[in-house]
Amino acid sequence: MEQKTLLQQIELFELELMQEYHQHSLGITETINTETIYKKFNELFKKEHITTQKTVLKTLTDHFQKREHTYLLKFFIEHWLEHHLTKLSDTLSNKEASATVTWKDKKIPLRQLGIEIANTPEQQTRKQMYELSIPIKEELLKLEKEILEKANTLRTELGYNTEIELYKELKEVDYKQLLQQLLPLLTQTETIYTHQLKKLLKQHNLYINNIHHYDLSFLMRAKQFDTHFPKEQAISTLKQTWLSLGFDLNTQKNIIIDAEERPKKVPRAYCMPLKVPQEVHLVIKPKGGQDDYQALLHESGHSQHYANTNNELPYPFKHMGDHAVSETYAFLLEYLTLSKEWLTTYTSLKEESLTNYLDFNWLINLFFVRRYIAKFIYEMKFYSNDLRKLDKEFQPTNQTYNSRAAMYNHILTQATHFDYPEINYLSDIDSGFYVADYLRAWVMEAQLRSVLINKFTNTWFTNKEAGDYLKTYWTHGNKLNINEIAKQAGFQNLDIQPLLQQLSHPPT
Ligand SMILES: [Zn+2]
Repeated sequence: MEQKTLLQQIELFELELMQEYHQHSLGITETINTETIYKKFNELFKKEHITTQKTVLKTLTDHFQKREHTYLLKFFIEHWLEHHLTKLSDTLSNKEASATVTWKDKKIPLRQLGIEIANTPEQQTRKQMYELSIPIKEELLKLEKEILEKANTLRTELGYNTEIELYKELKEVDYKQLLQQLLPLLTQTETIYTHQLKKLLKQHNLYINNIHHYDLSFLMRAKQFDTHFPKEQAISTLKQTWLSLGFDLNTQKNIIIDAEERPKKVPRAYCMPLKVPQEVHLVIKPKGGQDDYQALLHESGHSQHYANTNNELPYPFKHMGDHAVSETYAFLLEYLTLSKEWLTTYTSLKEESLTNYLDFNWLINLFFVRRYIAKFIYEMKFYSNDLRKLDKEFQPTNQTYNSRAAMYNHILTQATHFDYPEINYLSDIDSGFYVADYLRAWVMEAQLRSVLINKFTNTWFTNKEAGDYLKTYWTHGNKLNINEIAKQAGFQNLDIQPLLQQLSHPPT
């Protein structure tokens, strides 16, 4: 196939695939059937495209041309793999989607169980509810193992021994070096994290040596703040926030908001960039609560990034590439909820409720950074088959873990103090090292935010010039990688200092 027709085919394929997920998530279609789409575009998943891209890449010298073709190579590799796995992964997601548990004579969909647990104040009851899901999880784990083994064989066939090697090439990330760079975020925040966590636990009669991953959703649900984040005001708060930055969601035709209530619509907000920059869907189902506001803001950050991307860019820079870039902008908006100024402008929080919320949200933020660094450490060891046991500083010792599942449990639990069950040791791995995308985005978000505060003060989010300034980033789509964005913001590179500073002290 000619390069041009090939690109057109990719565009059509990606559009159909996104629409399939979109219709399902909107609650319009019952099941997801990606297999038919993969069959229809069969031509795209031939191994020869991978070989061709690699040959093309060798001939290129221009930096951005190289990146454009690396993104294409990533597309061909990931979809070639996915194409071989689609039957198994469809089975897995449909099995998960249709699974139910019975609680007090009531059938609850497995995917709904987490929400029920989050709203259950008694720890013992949460435990019982979680335990109902174990038999299904054991079933799913069998499929996850099968997928993993098949994926390993396929990747080796392409000449990549590990996931680390593959993504080092596709995402231009030196993962080993990145992990070393991030480690202080974990080790240097341990004392303050434990201290603040104990304070939060005390409010709920929980103890640090007996907390489990199912307690987390309850703690994060944080009902006590609900009245300050009402469902009815979610959309207007979102629109008002953007308007003061100079973006009118009521007239921005390329961002299409779907706020309709449908019973099967997914509860979480999401952004679906069907056509960048002409048609970006922002889907929301406001339910109120602080986490709901955060999700809305987050997805709206993705939406503005895509909606303000320069249309003249080649397709790969509009639709493909490094997720860390878009996540940076999404987190920038989400973390307005860490800002005292934003909270006093847009919510009814004040005095004691304001300090409580700021401390709470800061701690959750720190928790996530710690959990993701732990996940990153685990995934690096998982893929490099390094079962050496880690000490308290996350350095290798002479002992070894009995299994990868035991390694998962130990690392995640040591970093967060919440007991993570061994059964999650595969389901908690995101494909393509997404874990490192989030981490790089958190680091970059703190850098970018520090620049915005320097230029436009703590109330940068009320300044249209700050909106214009952000547009100078968004226009690049995914053309610049995260290190180049750091340079545009005036840094040498990714720099953990702004984030470390923020996470070293509670805000109040
Ligand atoms: Zn995101």
